[in-house]
Amino acid sequence: MQKFTRRSFAKTLSKGMGGTALASHLPLACAMDTKEPKRKLGIALVGLGSYSTYQLAPALKDTEYCYLAGIVTGTPAKEKAWAAEYGIPTNNIYNYSNFDTIKDNKDIDIVYIVLPNAMHTEFSVRAARAGKHVICEKPMAMNVTECDEIIKACNDNGVKLGIGYRLHSEPYTQEVKRFVKEKTFGKIHYVSADAAYRSTSNPNQWRLDKKLSGGGALVNMGVYTIQSAIYATGENPISVQAQEFSTRPEYFKETDETITAQFEFSSGAMANMMTSHNTNANRLYASCSNGWFELDPANSYIPLAGRTSQGELNFEQESQQKLQMDDFAKHILLGTPNLAPGEMGKRDMMIVEAIYKSIAQGGRKMTLQFEKGYGFSK
Ligand code: NAD
Repeated sequence: MQKFTRRSFAKTLSKGMGGTALASHLPLACAMDTKEPKRKLGIALVGLGSYSTYQLAPALKDTEYCYLAGIVTGTPAKEKAWAAEYGIPTNNIYNYSNFDTIKDNKDIDIVYIVLPNAMHTEFSVRAARAGKHVICEKPMAMNVTECDEIIKACNDNGVKLGIGYRLHSEPYTQEVKRFVKEKTFGKIHYVSADAAYRSTSNPNQWRLDKKLSGGGALVNMGVYTIQSAIYATGENPISVQAQEFSTRPEYFKETDETITAQFEFSSGAMANMMTSHNTNANRLYASCSNGWFELDPANSYIPLAGRTSQGELNFEQESQQKLQMDDFAKHILLGTPNLAPGEMGKRDMMIVEAIYKSIAQGGRKMTLQFEKGYGFSK
């Protein structure tokens, strides 16, 4: 049985990806030997809710290419505590009204939008117009039209755009992408992707309010299954058909509870996905012509775990958010690939829209058309 270790991962990665992802594990001084970034990039987090508080900000204490330089919050009470915890100067603290003056702040290079989904477009566009690089959380926006607005604003203002798809910086997921690229287990025949959790808390939360979320399980956890289906086949789908299930309509008044969908790919592969706010599930499985691979859990922060027909996967667990933000900073500083570009968020939203359309038409098969490689890491 083959044991995949961090070392073999590093070796294969440096071969398979030109060594770029490997560089994320090197100290800044080492990277400076070759490409010399002048300084760490300053990130401002917009929206200091759960994800910023418990994942992103703590990760920014350990990042090597960026740091927490500023905050943007609508809650004045949070300012003092965050300033004390992260040593943020008063000049780098903004609210939603004075946010645009961030354009004059040389400490801030990247603005990271961590707000309810309905606010992603407004704040991404304002950040781009302020001349700041943008990371926008998933789902990228409420619809494809909004995704186009964000992409255009970033292009017009010459700033980089990344989506908060942290798994592209994570070693188990990178290994899956390598299996596909190198055909380690042969041709991919079938992928099963599940991402779900059971929601029972606060019925007034924004995720259950369609005006703020844009949808339910599909836009929240379902984007992970769309992502899985695509990176576990290495292709964009050519069709999708979908079904919706509702068992607690009194709780899920406006948003979808459980959705399943089936994708076809031009290689002949097919994928089945399930996403839900009513049950727990967190898995990616691929059956191939010469074996299989599986991640379970596949989408959580850490620890992920995986196994294949050749043995267990075993990678060092590091903060995915740390790796993700460093990868984006390196993309800006060193020209390494953008692992989750804006087009990836837009492609996924096109698939989300097709899934909702299929459900509205009784599960009819919807054709999808993408240019080859559209929305992949670049
Ligand atoms: P949250 O509810 O914990 O925080 C939302 C923040 O937005 C709060 O600070 C809140 O004060 C602020 N806010 C401003 N206007 C608001 C309004 N009208 N209603 C509600 N809140 C408002 O949410 P979260 O879990 O931090 O999620 C924020 C974003 O991050 C979402 O887009 C979510 O999908 C994304 N997210 C991504 C991941 C990931 O793994 N990539 C994980 C969690 C959340």
